[in-house]
Amino acid sequence: MDSSNSKNVKIERLSIAQELIEDQQLQEKQPSIRPGSFKDYPGQEDVKKNLEVYVGASRKRERPLDHVILHGAPGLGKTTLANIIANELCVPFIATSGPAIDKPGDLAGILTGIEPGTLVFIDEIHRLSIKVEEVLYSAMEDFAIDIIIGQGASARSVRMDVAPFTLVGATTRLSLLSRPLLGRFGIQERLEFYDANALKQILFRSAKILGFQLSDEASHEIATRSRGTPRLANRLLRRVADFADMEGLVEIDRKVADLALTRQGIDSAGLDRVDRRILQIMQEQYEGGPVGIDTLAVTLNEDRDTLEDVYEPYLVYRGYIARTPRGRVLTNSAIAYLRSTN
Ligand code: ADP
Repeated sequence: MDSSNSKNVKIERLSIAQELIEDQQLQEKQPSIRPGSFKDYPGQEDVKKNLEVYVGASRKRERPLDHVILHGAPGLGKTTLANIIANELCVPFIATSGPAIDKPGDLAGILTGIEPGTLVFIDEIHRLSIKVEEVLYSAMEDFAIDIIIGQGASARSVRMDVAPFTLVGATTRLSLLSRPLLGRFGIQERLEFYDANALKQILFRSAKILGFQLSDEASHEIATRSRGTPRLANRLLRRVADFADMEGLVEIDRKVADLALTRQGIDSAGLDRVDRRILQIMQEQYEGGPVGIDTLAVTLNEDRDTLEDVYEPYLVYRGYIARTPRGRVLTNSAIAYLRSTN
């Protein structure tokens, strides 16, 4: 691959990362766009049905909900769902993340101050260090933590009680969770990519909150080009709205949606530049595979985690890439897609 191509891919990846940060900042300014109850959370029907039962049972028994692990690609609504569970249980919600809990003492600091029943949300839970994880085991099981105080011969273990709580962990990579940790989650739910109907409902709700009028056709156009991901759907809605504003339109229609999405580099199959580049490289340099994820990451000059967390799951979901024991391979659909783009 020539260096200008690899540069393009890198820039594209950075811009997506930047947009995710922008999104989170916007989210903080516009909290109402994040649904606060199951009824305002379209999609993930099976997950919602199960959680509604577990939440109902926990309320009836007046006992904390069992610990929950939510897994699935970024932007599918894991944090939102954790928030909704806390709302439905009427309990306080505390959010942190695996990388933010550096030492066992940090975890002790969070857990020792909570009210009974609190929902503690740990995003990216697969990134907890083993030392922190070990302290978490007894916290989850016995609502107590053992902390070592002092060093060397004078070191001693001190047991501290914590109020009964529910841990909700979120991860994009269930396979990176250790067995002892995973085994301590009584409730394990996987979030799937959204179909166009669910995304349309999300888009109509967001458009209403943000004060835009959206035609049915435009919502369909955005929904089918959002990689099955609400975070992206909401982001694209804002970009499309920018175009509509500049054109002086009162309502976002299909034409302006198509124009804005095409300008964002998203084609009618819903793939962006990086997706296309991945498929092209697999075809041109690896004759369709099999190719290992590490080799692919190096060729794309792409971070392996981003490739595995963000791009690959959607390409697998769309049936363009298959995972085999020998590596990733292009499917016939991908070959047909690449032919149609040439
Ligand atoms: P994750 O934690 O899985 O990365 P988030 O919960 O942060 O995803 O959701 C990303 C964005 O998408 C948020 O703006 C959230 O409001 C929105 N969102 C996610 N799922 C839904 C849903 N089912 N309905 C409405 N909005 C959703």
